[in-house]
Amino acid sequence: MAIATINPYTGETLKIFEPLQKMEIAAKLDLAGKAFQEYRQTSFLERSHWLEQAATILDQEKADLGKLMTLEMGKPLKAAIAEVEKCALVCRYYSENAASFLADVTIKTDASHSFVKYQPLGVILAVMPWNFPFWQVFRFAAPALMAGNVALLKHASNVPQCALAIEDIFHRAGFPGGVFQTLLIGADEVADLMADDRVKAATLTGSEPAGISLAVASGKQIKKTVLELGGSDPFIVLESADLETAVSTAVTARMLNNGQSCIAAKRFIIAEAVADKFQKLLLEKFQSLKIGNPMDLDTDLGPLATSNILQELDQQVKKAVKSGGKILTGGHPLTEMSGNFYPPTIIIDVPVDTPIAQAEFFGPVALLFRVPDINTAIKLANDTPFGLGASAWTTNTEEQNRLIQEIEAGAVFINSMVKSDPRLPFGGTKRSGYGRELSIQGIHEFVNIKTVWVK
Ligand code: NAP
Repeated sequence: MAIATINPYTGETLKIFEPLQKMEIAAKLDLAGKAFQEYRQTSFLERSHWLEQAATILDQEKADLGKLMTLEMGKPLKAAIAEVEKCALVCRYYSENAASFLADVTIKTDASHSFVKYQPLGVILAVMPWNFPFWQVFRFAAPALMAGNVALLKHASNVPQCALAIEDIFHRAGFPGGVFQTLLIGADEVADLMADDRVKAATLTGSEPAGISLAVASGKQIKKTVLELGGSDPFIVLESADLETAVSTAVTARMLNNGQSCIAAKRFIIAEAVADKFQKLLLEKFQSLKIGNPMDLDTDLGPLATSNILQELDQQVKKAVKSGGKILTGGHPLTEMSGNFYPPTIIIDVPVDTPIAQAEFFGPVALLFRVPDINTAIKLANDTPFGLGASAWTTNTEEQNRLIQEIEAGAVFINSMVKSDPRLPFGGTKRSGYGRELSIQGIHEFVNIKTVWVK
C-alpha cells in the first residue's frame, strides 16, 4: 500500500511519501535507543509539563488538525475536531495522574521493606489505524511517555500527514529529540522492527490479520504486545427500554466515524415486543441523515476512508443478502457521488447461524435481529468471535445484572453507547485482542513491575 494522502471525498491523490530506507529506519531506532537512556532519568514533573504543553497545542490547533484528519480519512469535521479535544483530555489525564499510578506500592511481608516499583521498558512500537488517526496514537502515547518510555509510530499508510503532525506536536511540546518519532514505513517492516533489540514491546490497533502478524513476530522475540482489534458489538434492546433514546443512540453508535469504529454498534438485537417500533424509528432516522462533504459542519455521514473499504463493505452486504438477508434501506454504493460513499443501510432476517451474521461491518450498515427473550439475546450477543464492547438497554435491574455478568466483552454499557474514556480501561476479549489501554491499567502495560525485597 502506497504511503499517500488520497482525499476520500474526491478520490484525488494529494501527496505521496517515499517510505524510509533501511538506513533511515536504523538511524531512527538508534536515536530512540539513545533518547531512552536520557529520557528515563527525567522526572514526572518534567514529563507532565511537556504533556500539558502538547494538550495546549492540541486545543489551540484543533480546527486545523481536525481538517487534516478529515482530508486524509473523511470523518466529518465536527467529529475530527472533537477527537483532537479528546486527545488533549487524555494528555491532561495522564499528566495529572501518572505519578500516583506509578508510585511505589509498599506490601507488608516478612522483609524489613518490600514494595513494587514501576519502571519504563524502553522503545515501544505503536502500529496504528487510520480510523481515529489522532486518538489512537495519543491514548497510547500519553501513558507510555509519562511512564518514561519512548515511542516509535508506524501509522496507517493513508494518514501520513496526521502521523507527521503528531510527531511535530510532541516535538513542539518540548519532549527531548527522539522520544516520539514517526516512521513512514509499510506494514512489511514491522516484523524486522520487532526483531531489533532496541524495540522492547509493541501495541497494535487494527484488524485481526495485522494483530496476528504482530503477535507472531513479537512472540518469536518474547516481547510484550497489546492488541486492540476488531469488534462486532451487539446493541441489545429489551422490552422495558426507553425506546426513543435507544433508537437515537443506536444511530449515533452505528454511524460514528462513518460507521468505521471498532466499538460501533453493529448487531442490533431487539426484543420481539418492541422490534416493530424500533425498526420503524431506526429506518426513519437512517433515511434522514445528511450525506455529503465531510468538511461541512452539518454533514452526518461522509465517505468511507478508502475505496478498498467501500468494496469490502459492498461484498459483505451482498453476502448477507445471499444468505437470506433483506435490505430495508441502502444496500448499494452511492456511485453517483465521486467519493467512497455508502448509504446508511439496514439488513433484517440474516440467519443467525451464518458467518456473515457475526462479521464486523466496517461502515454504515446495521444488522437487525429479533429475539423472544433475554436468554436468546445474550446467546446471540456472544455468538461472535469478537468480544470488544456491548450496549444493552433495559430498566429492569435483574436483566441489567444478567447482561453485565453474562456478556463476553471487554466492556458492557447499560442504557448508553459504548465509548472510551481516559478514566476507564479499554480493551477486548476473544478475538478482539488483549491488554488494556487508558486508566491505571493502561499505564501498567508498558512498565517493568519490579518486586523489591529488602531484608
Ligand atoms: P489494518 O489494516 O490492520 O491496519 C492497522 C495498522 O496495522 C496499519 O498501520 C497497517 O499498516 C498495519 N498493518 C496492516 N497489516 C499489518 C501486518 N501484517 N503487520 C503489521 N502491521 C500491519 O486495520 P484497518 O483496516 O486500518 O483498521 C480497521 C480495523 O481496526 C477494524 O477491524 C477495527 O475494528 C480495528 N480497530 C480496533 C480498535 C480497538 O481499539 N480495538 C480501534 C480502531 C480500529 P498499513 O496501513 O501500512 O497497511
